[in-house]
Amino acid sequence: MAGGLLSACMAVRPPGPGICRICCGAILGHYEECWSCRQIEERLGRPLTPITPISLAVDGTPVYTALKQYKGHHEPTARRQQLRLAGLIGIFLRHHTRCIAVEGFDAVAAVPSLQGRDGLHPLVTTLGLIGSLRPAIINALSPGTGRVARNSPSLEAYLTRHDLVVDRRILLVDDTYTTGAHLHSAAASLISAGAREIYPLVVGRRQNRAWPPSQHLAEWSALGENRWSSTRCIHCWSRDPAMS
Ligand SMILES: [Zn+2]
Ligand SMILES: [Zn+2]
Repeated sequence: MAGGLLSACMAVRPPGPGICRICCGAILGHYEECWSCRQIEERLGRPLTPITPISLAVDGTPVYTALKQYKGHHEPTARRQQLRLAGLIGIFLRHHTRCIAVEGFDAVAAVPSLQGRDGLHPLVTTLGLIGSLRPAIINALSPGTGRVARNSPSLEAYLTRHDLVVDRRILLVDDTYTTGAHLHSAAASLISAGAREIYPLVVGRRQNRAWPPSQHLAEWSALGENRWSSTRCIHCWSRDPAMS
């Protein structure tokens, strides 16, 4: 069960004037993409695929805490948070799979963490708790040799199993999105390996409250009429009957 996480989610403002069409981050100046996305795009040398974020992740909030603890070493806490996150992702996908991928997807891959970790990645464990996703999960990505840092992606950051991705439409899930360097590196690797389509899904879109241009995004989310609801996402936001 999502156990309280649903009521703790914060809506992500859909792309539009001042909101990045790739990552829903704040834009300074008259661009369609934020500075981070433009940096990453330039360094990867290819267009980025827009993400679908489920919630904002503001430091210290329950969603942020869940995304930290679910991969922590305190087993009972990690397990509880994995169940809550699985509940949230499952409900979100039940409502919005067609918003993300009109024709659906036929495989699910997780962005693995690049720090050494033994065994199954907690994100894969979490996705495996969602019955409808379990059969589609592929272990397509593993850490490679390229280094990734803030705004600095790498096409060599991940090794890709070509046999698992060729000609497939892949839902690419990551837990947290900050500048997107990891996610876009992983997406680029999958495309290079022959994937037909990548649909990036992010649980928590990190929001840095200390950065003034970001403040209005958190303020927007705090408005009553913009309350997070499982029945609307950044794609179908304006189609929600509650909005008309
Ligand atoms: Zn962006
Ligand atoms: Zn939707």
